[in-house]
Amino acid sequence: MRLIIASNNKNKVREIREILGCRFDEVLSMREAGIELDVVEDADSFLGNAEKKALETAALLPGDAVLADDSGLCVDALGGAPGVYSARYAGEGHDDAANRKKLLEALEGVPEEKRGAHFACAMALVSDGKIIAEAVGKVEGRILFEEIGENGFGYDSLFYYEPYGLSFAEIDAERKNAVSHRHNALTLLLAALDAEESA
Ligand code: IMP
Repeated sequence: MRLIIASNNKNKVREIREILGCRFDEVLSMREAGIELDVVEDADSFLGNAEKKALETAALLPGDAVLADDSGLCVDALGGAPGVYSARYAGEGHDDAANRKKLLEALEGVPEEKRGAHFACAMALVSDGKIIAEAVGKVEGRILFEEIGENGFGYDSLFYYEPYGLSFAEIDAERKNAVSHRHNALTLLLAALDAEESA
């Protein structure tokens, strides 16, 4: 069976292929599978958005399995914000830099010990029109007082990862992918798939 990833992000597709590739004949992006679809991500949870994206994409691909994900940053002192609004925290049409600036402003005056945060990634796998496995992976850290590092994207330069003693923007993709929320979600998804198959 083919696995279609509901994304065209090359890094995501490669990461997923590395972990789930052994379970499917082929792992392809949406573009490689010849479809184009923009699902409105309007659910109030990461898992809700991942399920919606996976089900709507799978409706166009009968016979294939479809995997969708949704991720973002949750900051304790902000009650879990920006959460599902991570990509558009500073408003529709704003970029990552504007989102980071807004986050630093929202945390002004918040001391280090109260700047705890995590990235979360939800994944849903659909086959034959039904969700057959899902998982939520996390990685814990804290929000810095200013941006540090040049690598990565999104909130990486504000996310301090204690075990490395560095921000996510100071490490290379390989080291980040070994501990990331996406990696943790994929590992849990593989375990859920194993459990489903042996049930
Ligand atoms: P997506 O669901 O993977 O597209 O992620 C939504 C948004 O969450 C992104 O636009 C980023 O702002 C943020 N985000 C998700 N994963 C990461 C990450 O690994 N590093 C930094 N920001 C992230």
